[in-house]
Amino acid sequence: MGSLVIKGGTLVTPRRVGRGTVYIEDGKIARLAKAPAAEVFEARGLLVLPGAIDAHVHFALPVAGTRSADDFHSGSLAAACGGVTTFIDFTLGHPEVSLPEALEKRLSEAKVSTVDYSLHVEMIGWIPDRVREISEVKDLGVRSFKFYLAYSESGRRTDLRTLKAAMEAIREIGGVAMVHAECDELVDQKKGPFPWARPAISEEVAVAEVGILARETHCQTYIAHISSAPGLSALLRAKREGAPIMGETCPHYLLLDESVYSRPDGHLFTVTPPLRTPADQEALWRALGRGRLQAVATDHCPFTRAQKDPHRDNPEKIPSGLPGVETLLPLLFSAGVAKGKLRLSQLAWYLSEGPARAFGLWPRKGAIAPGSDADLVLLDPNATWTIHAEELHMATDFSPYEGLTVRGKIVGVLSRGEWIYRDGEILARPGRGQFIPWQG
Ligand SMILES: [Zn+2]
Repeated sequence: MGSLVIKGGTLVTPRRVGRGTVYIEDGKIARLAKAPAAEVFEARGLLVLPGAIDAHVHFALPVAGTRSADDFHSGSLAAACGGVTTFIDFTLGHPEVSLPEALEKRLSEAKVSTVDYSLHVEMIGWIPDRVREISEVKDLGVRSFKFYLAYSESGRRTDLRTLKAAMEAIREIGGVAMVHAECDELVDQKKGPFPWARPAISEEVAVAEVGILARETHCQTYIAHISSAPGLSALLRAKREGAPIMGETCPHYLLLDESVYSRPDGHLFTVTPPLRTPADQEALWRALGRGRLQAVATDHCPFTRAQKDPHRDNPEKIPSGLPGVETLLPLLFSAGVAKGKLRLSQLAWYLSEGPARAFGLWPRKGAIAPGSDADLVLLDPNATWTIHAEELHMATDFSPYEGLTVRGKIVGVLSRGEWIYRDGEILARPGRGQFIPWQG
């Protein structure tokens, strides 16, 4: 592989935003200075961002008798177009399948990916007798474990005693417990993925419980998809009390609110946890602006109209989830940075360094620094475009942001020094993505 210089652009990292040059050699950032190179890219007027890491995607996930519409092929291609150079998906946990077995199976499915990836190991049906499997998974390069406190009806729920035992073991290997925090007993599953069935206090109670376990076990803990002001308050309280706890939110909780459910196509917006109120939205933006969260990720789990429409009047059966991976970076720039709710440096934290540090990818991923993988996004901060589902690459004909005008357009994306997207053209080959093991 040759050398490439990106010059004249504004480099964006959590610590510094300023004019700079990136010299790339053999897929790595070699230095932040000029040197003779085979190719020179003039980035004047563009932002040079670290490649985004979407720490929460579900490709080809079996849900409610169907499968999320994107597989690793289409989903990772859409990721590339959206400036996501690394994604983290999940194993498909099952009580009868050992953790390393589930991991190896999912790793082999992910091989067709066009961008780099890692996995979280789902702890469905895990029991403390199987503690050895946690270190076996570590030996395979994964130290992140996913727990659901809801979904007892489908057998995915982990009780608090089991969670505590797992957190003690995860702490031992220096890993992280990722938790879907909704209190099962406060959720009315039969009424579907709507705020009247999954109230904000179900999130608050669950985050509070997990926060106490994190404080007691000293296990690094990451709360997925915080959707509400009460859930957020519980997270911040746990942090103040010394819990090693991190929070994630998603673009849909920042840009959309529950009013969409009264639209004729409201069922297409179903997602778990559900969309909440404008006041919840504002609380999440404030927390982001104050640097209180670790990451913004998408919980990407798209379905087509054909998959959701038959269940319009059957909330219990509707497949719940929204597309996101391709619009993550543009939406956070447009609705956050361009609107003055987020600083550019914070964009680099929430989409790159924050998730990289949480999930053992740092400093190989998420950094613009010598030695790091040359994963970069070139963004024109002044260009505008309009979201139309049919023009995106995600395998769904629905976008919750249809018709929204977005400020900031991705001009080019580099993954390990290779152009995978440039001027609207996909240059990535399926299968070029690599599994990135936990660093250190
Ligand atoms: Zn999820």
